Amino acid sequence: MPATANARRRELRLIQTATGAPTPTGWAEHSEYGLCRTITGHAWRRPTGLRLVKGNVTITLTCYNCPTTRTDIVAYQSGLVDARRYDYPKGYCLRLGRGVARPARAELRAAWLHLMLGGRQR
Ligand SMILES: [Zn+2]
Repeated sequence: MPATANARRRELRLIQTATGAPTPTGWAEHSEYGLCRTITGHAWRRPTGLRLVKGNVTITLTCYNCPTTRTDIVAYQSGLVDARRYDYPKGYCLRLGRGVARPARAELRAAWLHLMLGGRQR
């Protein structure tokens, strides 16, 4: 088995056994993080203001369910998104070590469900 697969399993085990042990994410304390990440996606609020600066409009969105924000820089004339940045709360993102493959969304979803249900079988 490739080293990255082993590392990924180790990473997921940390999440799956998170009911009492420290986890690499804040999902145990903030269940909404895993919900947004794996089940619903972010629920963006309407932006409260638009800023036009040098031909670009800055649009900042915040999530109803978690503290994540998304900032888009959109070209005023063309409407094309020139840049997009997400700012996540501490503990939202997985911290993957070097060479560790990012788990598939389904694997993360299963890990979150196990976390929410206390690791119950079935
Ligand atoms: Zn969210």
